[in-house]
Amino acid sequence: MKGKSSKKFETQAVRIQTERTQFLEHSTPMYLTSSFVFEDAEDMRASFAEEKDRNIYSRYSNPNSNEFVEKVCQMEGAEAGFAFASGMAAVFSTLAALLESGDHIISAGNIFGSTHTLFQNFFPKWNIGHSYFPIDDLDSVERLITPNTKVIYAESPTNPGVDIVDLEALGAIAKKHQLILIIDNCFASPYLQQPIQFGADLVIHSGTKLMDGQGRVLAGITVGHAALIDKVYRFARITGPALSPFNAWVLSKSLETLALRVDRHCENALRLAQFLEGHAKVNWVKYPFLKSHPQYQVAKKQMKAGGCVVAFEVKGGIKAGQTFFDAIRLLSLSANLGDSRSIVTHPASTTHSKLTKEERLVSGITDGMVRVSVGLEHVDDIIADINQALG
Ligand SMILES: *Cc1c(COP(=O)(O)O)cnc(C)c1O
Repeated sequence: MKGKSSKKFETQAVRIQTERTQFLEHSTPMYLTSSFVFEDAEDMRASFAEEKDRNIYSRYSNPNSNEFVEKVCQMEGAEAGFAFASGMAAVFSTLAALLESGDHIISAGNIFGSTHTLFQNFFPKWNIGHSYFPIDDLDSVERLITPNTKVIYAESPTNPGVDIVDLEALGAIAKKHQLILIIDNCFASPYLQQPIQFGADLVIHSGTKLMDGQGRVLAGITVGHAALIDKVYRFARITGPALSPFNAWVLSKSLETLALRVDRHCENALRLAQFLEGHAKVNWVKYPFLKSHPQYQVAKKQMKAGGCVVAFEVKGGIKAGQTFFDAIRLLSLSANLGDSRSIVTHPASTTHSKLTKEERLVSGITDGMVRVSVGLEHVDDIIADINQALG
């Protein structure tokens, strides 16, 4: 990384680019190559000894991945980063690189389902424990700290309840106790929120969501303090979760339009949330930039807009929920989010069906709850489809 640029977000998203080849191409080409060649024996020795900063093998680095990483570093205000094949590869590799047997994670209770399963079912194999704190009770975080605690982990907004965690308050706790604060910033994207400003040491994204934004590729990335990223890099270059150069190329192109797309996602989502708020067939609506959201003030402080996800509850419980889903015509019934196509999901019967009803309620997931990832179709058509399905 060359340090923080003074250029604006949108300009960097478009203009950060791999150095041109002798063909003077305008747009970055794809570097679909597994390895790179050396001038001579000395060049090769010095490269492997890391005396030179250059590409050796695409499991370590590749021009397309490097371009993607540099863009996200500038967007997040981070010193360094590493790109992964998926968001979960980023979550797992980052924590596996930093934690030792016996270490302890304090995590928000409302986290992505696979991250929860990683903490619950797999980390105990390596004697890595965790405790959950309720996101509306940050005082409880300090009470959960043990001598072995190393990491505080959270997402904001959360999935699927779009709750907001006060990043500044969490950053202060992490700093006071010298813990590593890791924020999964996937739901906000770097355009809406930069957790490093509020004290995060590392920021993780699933690039699969708003970053790609068109439902094509899986990707993940971790950015943050150079010393921590170096540990993540040392682990990843050996264990092999690297992002493919093709997907990195797709992602870097997608980031050129991130600001435009996310602005429209948020505009459409707010319009839908406002429409649903007065609807006779709806019990409640949750969206970070609705005044009725319990953490509206915190959302306003740390986010530029409310994001693409709206949660609401259909009146009449699980049966009414199923009738609603069967009546949907335009929107997709799918599990992804942050796509140009609007998507409706029923968390209780799909993404969170393996949890007990009580566990679901802790995360605010009721039987009739619907999660909408609001896309880029005309907002009138999105609202019309949801309205006819409710009727
Ligand atoms: C989707 C998602 C992930 C996992 O990302 P994949 O690219 O699907 O592996 C992690 N965290 C959050 C908040 C997500 O939405």
